[in-house]
Amino acid sequence: MKKFYVTTPIYYVNDKPHIGHAYTTIVADVFARYYRQKIGKENVFFLTGTDEHGAKIAEAAKKNNQTPGDFVDQISDQYQIAWKALGISNDYFFRTSNPDHKKIVQSVLQTLYDKGYIYKSLYKGIYCVGCEKYLMEDEIIDGKCPHHPTTELAEQEEENYFFKLRDLAPKVLDALENERYSVFPSERRNEILSKIRGDINDISISRTGVDWGIPVPWDSKHTIYVWVDALFNYYTATLIVPNKKHFWPADLHLMAKDILWFHALIWEALLIALDKELPKVIFAHGFFSIDGQKMSKSLGNIINPLDLVKSYGTDGLRYLLLTSFAFGNDGDISLSKFTKKYNADLANGIGNLVSRIARLCEQSGYNFLSVFEGVVVESDESIDKAMLEYRPDEAIRIIWNQIQSFDKDIHNDQPWTLNGEKLQQILESYVQRIISIANNLKPFLPNTAEKIIAIFGAEKIVKPEPLFERKK
Ligand SMILES: [Zn+2]
Repeated sequence: MKKFYVTTPIYYVNDKPHIGHAYTTIVADVFARYYRQKIGKENVFFLTGTDEHGAKIAEAAKKNNQTPGDFVDQISDQYQIAWKALGISNDYFFRTSNPDHKKIVQSVLQTLYDKGYIYKSLYKGIYCVGCEKYLMEDEIIDGKCPHHPTTELAEQEEENYFFKLRDLAPKVLDALENERYSVFPSERRNEILSKIRGDINDISISRTGVDWGIPVPWDSKHTIYVWVDALFNYYTATLIVPNKKHFWPADLHLMAKDILWFHALIWEALLIALDKELPKVIFAHGFFSIDGQKMSKSLGNIINPLDLVKSYGTDGLRYLLLTSFAFGNDGDISLSKFTKKYNADLANGIGNLVSRIARLCEQSGYNFLSVFEGVVVESDESIDKAMLEYRPDEAIRIIWNQIQSFDKDIHNDQPWTLNGEKLQQILESYVQRIISIANNLKPFLPNTAEKIIAIFGAEKIVKPEPLFERKK
């Protein structure tokens, strides 16, 4: 692999950042940091951002007595602040309100229109303002949208521009079957395959009466559907950020499974119609509950990631979220067990191990600088394998096994009973080993990895402050 381009969805600014957004973004950050270590910083491009257009945003701004522009600035800032607190190392923060993005989206839409992929027709259907889309029959349960059970659904009829998704679906199917792009995990791929093999209709790609958005270039009464506008961010970014053009196509689009359909079919169809290369991998992770309960505003269990950073620190939260369940599957984030796990794995686990070794080194009176400088960083095959299989949770589990067996070895070696050359040798091997663990940790717990390296790379090793303060 020569370059690696990873994206999160751009998050819709009707919502403040919550733990769901944080989870996807932390995983993307892990992949970005991992590949920076592998192939060099300059060969990785990590994109996240905010999706800022649409009727729903204009409405929310009005409720707040703000202009849409001021409103989106404010929410977008909240995302950027949250990502900073989580140690997210994105190379660029994309905003769809960017005027350069608008120009590019208008120009690609004009191309699609000129090529005959877009036509005008009457659209009639049941619209959900919450989803910003017309719902299919099977998406309406007991007369309600299951995602927005308190929203009244209404029939709407309007003249729309349509995209010829039906004609393009066989080409998308062919591309997926022949692995010109891939969808993971495999259950998701199978779902998408059977859906594409079914009956695909053309989709409406414009709205009337929506001012906050990008006008259709040949007919300014119409605004480009917010989803189409948003999907193009992945491509636009490679053009508007200097020197990123060669990063297209994306290597990994990460998202939760509720928006897989847009990414695994509609996005590909748009790109095929434009003769653009397809993203390599679309990975949809599962949904999760919080302590066994569905996350919802009415239950009041929407969690602000900043609150968790206050409790567990940046790396603490990254660890607790990443190890909650297997990446890709549905799972549960057991907040009630966070403190216990934090104490066991972080305060007692890696924290204790580091201070134990540092204390032994300090007491020995030897100098370990030449050992530190001589450490050859080798990549760990089992971690590489886990990352290639999109299992950051498995990679981190491997590192924790290394930590545990290190603890056991110290227990067996009983270095406190040794002295002279024997002690020096064993401590030198410990320093090498802890540095290699720190290197493995870098993508997952970057601050902790840096701290460990600073402790053992110091002129004189001394027992440090605890890496993770025990919690009650
Ligand atoms: Zn809805």
